This record gives sequence, C-alpha cells and structure tokens, in this order.
Amino acid sequence: MIEKYYEIQEKVQKTALKSYEQNLVAGTSGNVSYYDRENAIMAITATNLDYKIMTPEDVVLMHLDGEIIYGDLRPSSEWQMHAEIYRGLSHVNSVIHTHSPRATSFAVVHEDIPLILVEMLPFIGGDIPRAKFALPGSVELGKEAVIAMQNRNACLLENHGVVAVGTTLDQAYIRAVYVEDAAKIYHFARQVGEPKVLSNENIDLLRKKYNLK
Ligand SMILES: [Zn+2]
Repeated sequence: MIEKYYEIQEKVQKTALKSYEQNLVAGTSGNVSYYDRENAIMAITATNLDYKIMTPEDVVLMHLDGEIIYGDLRPSSEWQMHAEIYRGLSHVNSVIHTHSPRATSFAVVHEDIPLILVEMLPFIGGDIPRAKFALPGSVELGKEAVIAMQNRNACLLENHGVVAVGTTLDQAYIRAVYVEDAAKIYHFARQVGEPKVLSNENIDLLRKKYNLK
C-alpha cells in the first residue's frame, strides 16, 4: 500500500530539489505536494528539512484532515493551505509554494503582475493575481488562494510568496518557473519604459492559437 507511493514521494522530493536549485526557494522555505484523489492521500514535503539532504522517504503521506499515514517527520507547516487548495480546486493534483524573489517583490508591494507576455496565457491562464493576506500555516491562506485561482494556475500571496498548481507535478513546477520569469521581465520592462499589456484582440487570437477557452 505504501510502497506504491514511493514513485510519487520521489517525484515530490525531486521537484522540491529542482525548485531549490532554480532559486525559487531559499533555505528550507517553500513546499511541494501531490494529491492522489482516488485514495485521498497527499504526499507533501516535510517541514524544516534541507532540500539537499531530503530523501523520498522524508516526503510525508497524509489525508487532507491531517491524519498522517506515513513518515517520521512533520509535514510542511503549509499543509493546510495545500489541503484547502485540493478541496477547492477539483482539477488540481499538485501544488507548489515558493518564495521566488522577483514575483514575491510584487506580492510585497501588493501589485498583480499584468498580462504582458504571450506565454502567460497558456501557462498561467492570464495575469497573475494576488491572494489577500492570511497567516502562514492557516486554512484561510488556502481559501484566499482558491479565490484568486478561480481562472488561473498561479497567484501571489500578499507579503509572502507564490503558489502554482497543476494536474501534475511537472506542470505545477513549470508554472512556478514562469511566474518568476514573468515577474523578472515585468520588472525589467518597468525600468526601460512603460509596459504595455496584451490587447483584448491579441488575447483572443492567442486563445485560438493555444486552443484555450
Ligand atoms: Zn511560505
């Protein structure tokens, strides 16, 4: 029963390590999870563990109500946010939370990142909105993230960081990377001039091109 989760635990651990190596998180911050909806089991990174020494066995298996099924370590302090996102967004099976610095700087000044790049449409679903401030580790943080991501695959958490979601770990990860990339380019664009958002006409053309709703 638990053995069959090893592959998922390994994938969660590898995704967390990648996000560390890509500078999306610093120290032991950030967290990664995958939710097996069929068996209602969430695999989530452990709290306060260095990503460089984390093993697949360190990834905690638990139910969304907090019951631990496997693991000697405590789950991420943000497990309730992850659980609330899985409850609120039924198409989501993976959640990545980062403190990637350029995107988080917009979360700190309470500014959304507007739709200024063509890639933002297929990867994020549009602009990158903000979830209202809520305490770290709280259910409310998850509720605010669900509200912000009704039609998006990522959002900023005010004065805190970034959340990206997907149907797979790879999809959530690449979206978290694109959030930081969009924030970086928007930041540079503001230094060289006045950024222009995509026009509605071009958004329609892009939606057709990418087969988006
Ligand atoms: Zn955080």
